[in-house]
Amino acid sequence: MSTYPNLFTPITVGKMELPNRLLMGSMHTGLEDIAGLERLATYFAARAAEGCALMVTGGFSPNATGRLSDGAASFDHEFQVPGHRRVTDAVHHAGGRILLQIIHAGRYGYHADIVAPSALAAPINKQMPREMTEADIEETIEDFVRCAALAQDAGYDGVEIMGSEGYLLTQFIAARTNARDDGWGGNFENRIRLALEIVRRTRAFVDSAFVIMFRLSVLDLVENGSSPDEIVMLAQQLEAAGCDVLNSGIGWHEAPVPTIAQAVPRAAFTSYTKAIKGMVGIPLIASNRINTPDVAEKVLASGDADMVSMARPFLADPGFVAKARDGHAEEINTCIACNQACLDRYFVGRVSSCLVNPSACHETEFDFAPPALPSRIAIVGAGVAGLACAVTAAGRGHDVTLFEAADRIGGQFNLARRVPGKYEFDETLRYFRVQLEKTGVDVRLGQSATTSNLDDGNFDAVVLASGVAPRPADIDGIDGINGAQVLGYMEVLEGNAEIGRRVAIIGGGGIAFDVALYLLEGDDDSFTDTDAFRQSWGIGVAREEAQPRHEITMVQRTPGPMGRGLGKSTGWIHRAILKRNQVRQLSGVTYRRLAVDGLHIEVDGAPMTIAADTVIVCAGQEPRNELMAALAAAEMPVHTIGGALKAGELDAERAIREGVELGLKL
Ligand code: NAP
Ligand code: SF4
Repeated sequence: MSTYPNLFTPITVGKMELPNRLLMGSMHTGLEDIAGLERLATYFAARAAEGCALMVTGGFSPNATGRLSDGAASFDHEFQVPGHRRVTDAVHHAGGRILLQIIHAGRYGYHADIVAPSALAAPINKQMPREMTEADIEETIEDFVRCAALAQDAGYDGVEIMGSEGYLLTQFIAARTNARDDGWGGNFENRIRLALEIVRRTRAFVDSAFVIMFRLSVLDLVENGSSPDEIVMLAQQLEAAGCDVLNSGIGWHEAPVPTIAQAVPRAAFTSYTKAIKGMVGIPLIASNRINTPDVAEKVLASGDADMVSMARPFLADPGFVAKARDGHAEEINTCIACNQACLDRYFVGRVSSCLVNPSACHETEFDFAPPALPSRIAIVGAGVAGLACAVTAAGRGHDVTLFEAADRIGGQFNLARRVPGKYEFDETLRYFRVQLEKTGVDVRLGQSATTSNLDDGNFDAVVLASGVAPRPADIDGIDGINGAQVLGYMEVLEGNAEIGRRVAIIGGGGIAFDVALYLLEGDDDSFTDTDAFRQSWGIGVAREEAQPRHEITMVQRTPGPMGRGLGKSTGWIHRAILKRNQVRQLSGVTYRRLAVDGLHIEVDGAPMTIAADTVIVCAGQEPRNELMAALAAAEMPVHTIGGALKAGELDAERAIREGVELGLKL
C-alpha cells in the first residue's frame, strides 16, 4: 500500500480520470513569453514524465489589455496555436494532461492600456486603469471564450479561468474595486456576473469533455473583499454555470499578509477551501505552502479538499510525484518557499529558476549525461556549493571525496536554518544527505583538506568550496577593548550567546535583517503554527501588539533605505516585522568608536550615541580560500566556487548554481 493512500487515490475531474490528486498549479515563469514555446514544452513534459498527471500553464491573457506586462503572453490568435500544440503534444506524449490558464490582469497589468471595473488604481501599481465600458465587458467575455476555444484547438485538456489574487475577475467581484452602478456592479449578483458569464459562454462553446477549472478566491485578505457567505454562493453558481472543478486562490497581491512566503506555515490556508466542502458537488483543490507529500496527504486525509495544488515544489523537483508514489519521498528536493530564484527573478524580467534546482525552467541548458572518462575529484567544503557540486558530479559517475572540517554538512545553512521561517532549509540538508549516500560520495567530516592529503588522494581535480568568513568591522573598540559586548552574527545565530535588551546591529544587509528577525521572533511559533500565524498577521482575529523583545538599532554607512537587496516578494515581510517591533534603522552613518555606553556614530555630521548592551557585527563576508595559493604552488588543477570564489553578494542561489554547473562541467 502507498505511504500516501489519499494522494494516490484516482479522481475524476469533469470527464477526466486522474491517477492521483496532485495538481501542478499555475505559475508564471517567463517561459510563456518566449516565442515558439519550445522551452515551455520541455519544462512541462519533464514533470509529466515523472508522474505529474495534471498541470496548468502560467497565465495567458485573452486580449492585449489583459496582459500582465508589455512583453507578457496573450493567446488571442490562431497563429499562436502551433506553439501551444507543441506544449500539449509534449505533455500528452509524456503521459500528462494540461490546462491553459486564462488570466486578465485588469488593474494589475504593467502596461499603458490597463482596464478595470472602475477607475481605481491598485496600491501596488501606480497606473490608473481605464473604466471598462459595457462594450468592453462584452468583448472581454468573448475574448475569454475565444481563448478557451483556441486552447481546445491547440490540444489543451481544459482551461483554468483565473478568478483570484486580485486580477480582473476578482476586481469585478469585490466591492473594494467595483464602484459601478450598471448591471456589472452594485449588488453581489451584478458583481459576479462577469465571472459567471465567462464560464457559461465558455461551457456552451467548448466540448463537454473540455475541463473548466475556476480559480476562486477563497480568502481575499483585503478590506471590502468577499465575505465567506459570498464565496460559497459564488462557488455554487460557478458549478451551476458549468465549472468542473474549483481551485483555491489565497489573498490579493495587494494584501498586506504573506500568503506563500517562508513566513507562512505549511498548509496554513486549507481551512478556507474546507469551508466550501459539502456546499458544491465538484472537486475542490487546496493550495498554498503545500510542499511535501506528507503535508499534501494530511490535507486530503483531514478532508480539507479533494485535491492539492502545488506549483513551486515542481520547480524544485520535477520528480516529486514519482518519488512520492514509489516510496522515495526522502529523495525529494523540497521547495523552501524562498521565492528567490522563481518569483523574484520573474519580477525583474528574467526567466524563473529555482534556488535548490538551477535547471528548473532551463532544462535545455543542463546536460546531466555521464562524462567521457570518470575522474577522481576532491571537494573542499560541504556548504551548499560543495554539496551541490559533489552530488552532481558523483551522480554523473565521478569518484568524489568531500572534505569538511566541521562535524556536519551544510556550512552557513546550519545557521540560516535558525532564522524564523528558514526552517525549510532543513529539507535541503536532508535532500543533500540522502543524495550523498545515493551517489556514493566519500564524505570526510571533521577532516580539513590540506595539500598533503589532497596530494595523497591522487585526485584529478580539486574543487575549493570552502565558503566565507564573517568580515570584521573596522571600528575603534570593536574588539571589546572599550568594554562593550560585541558578538558576530554567527555566535548569535548559534543560539548560545546572552544578548542584552538594547542591541545595535552593524550592517543593513540580508544577514542583519535575519539577525534582527531572529532576536525578535526567534522562538515564535507564528512561522510554523497556523493559529499563531493568523494571530500574528491579524487574519480573522485582531492582532495583539506585544512589547518588542529587544530594542534594536541597525546601522550602515551607505545612505538610503536598508535591505535593498532583499527579495521583492519577501523583503516587505521582513520590513513589516521589523517595523512592528520598532526597529530603528540609521543609514549614511560614520562610525566613531564603540564604548561601554554604546556605539558612537555621526549622522549628517552630528554625533550620536546608540545605547547598546550588545553590538552585533553583520558586516558581510570575505572568501575563505587559504588553500588556493598552496594548491596552485603544488600545481593541482583547482576550481573555486561559491563564497570561496566571491563572497560579495553571495547568496545560496549562486552557491548552488555554481556547484551544479561545475558538477556538470567536470
Ligand atoms: P551584505 O548584504 O553585503 O551586507 C553587508 C552589510 O555590512 C552592509 O549593510 C554594509 O553596510 C556592511 N558593511 C560592509 N563592510 C563593512 C565594514 N567593513 N564595516 C562595517 N560595516 C560593513 O552581506 P550580508 O548581510 O552578510 O549578506 C550576505 C549575502 O546573503 C547577501 O547577498 C545577502 O543578500 C544574502 N542574504 C539574503 C537574505 C535575505 O534576502 N533575506 C538573508 C541573508 C543573507 P555599509 O558598507 O553601508 O556600512
Ligand atoms: Fe521554491 Fe525557492 Fe525554488 Fe522558488 S526558488 S521554487 S521558492 S525553492
